[in-house]
Amino acid sequence: MTTGILALQGDFREHSEMLASIGQASVEVRRPEQLDALDSLIIPGGESTTIARLILRYGFTEPLRAFCDSGRPVWGTCAGAILLAKQVNDLDRPGIETMDVSVARNAFGRQVDSFEANVEMKGLAGGPFHAIFIRAPIIESVGARVEVLGRIEDGAIVAARQGNLLATAFHPELGGDTRLHEYFLTIGAAERPKAGAGA
Ligand code: GLN
Repeated sequence: MTTGILALQGDFREHSEMLASIGQASVEVRRPEQLDALDSLIIPGGESTTIARLILRYGFTEPLRAFCDSGRPVWGTCAGAILLAKQVNDLDRPGIETMDVSVARNAFGRQVDSFEANVEMKGLAGGPFHAIFIRAPIIESVGARVEVLGRIEDGAIVAARQGNLLATAFHPELGGDTRLHEYFLTIGAAERPKAGAGA
């Protein structure tokens, strides 16, 4: 089993270190052809406009959409969550646009560029997840097939899942708590659409 980490820009290295610490092999993905060999994919945090530009430049748009449609697990963290969203305010070019959520970039404003919060996460045993937010987005609304997994104190949605697609507004690869990476690895073949189901 190999997890790919889209390595066009952003903190892909921290994800691969986190995965290595729980015994999961990963590869840095820089060409669309690499996607074929992967069992799952992480789209890291960084700058979503930059990653979106590189996705277009290197011909990743359709291959990434097909990867999401294939039912293999895909996890977008922070900028990665922005790229997965079907609707984003203020992104000047298309992302992957596959998850039925609406996301607001830089939702916490300049005064609170970064902060940490304990997030009660549905499906995660062992207490709240200590989450690090860096110029983070929030998930403003979710479609009917999307499950909200976590909110911060004021009610803003910061983690959600739609079948094989997982989005977190924060940076679970920073901070040393491996539970979300472990959770991601449990999203598996069960989520793959059955042949002919037209998902
Ligand atoms: N503010 C960034 C963006 O809109 C996301 C920040 C992050 O990934 N830490 O792309």
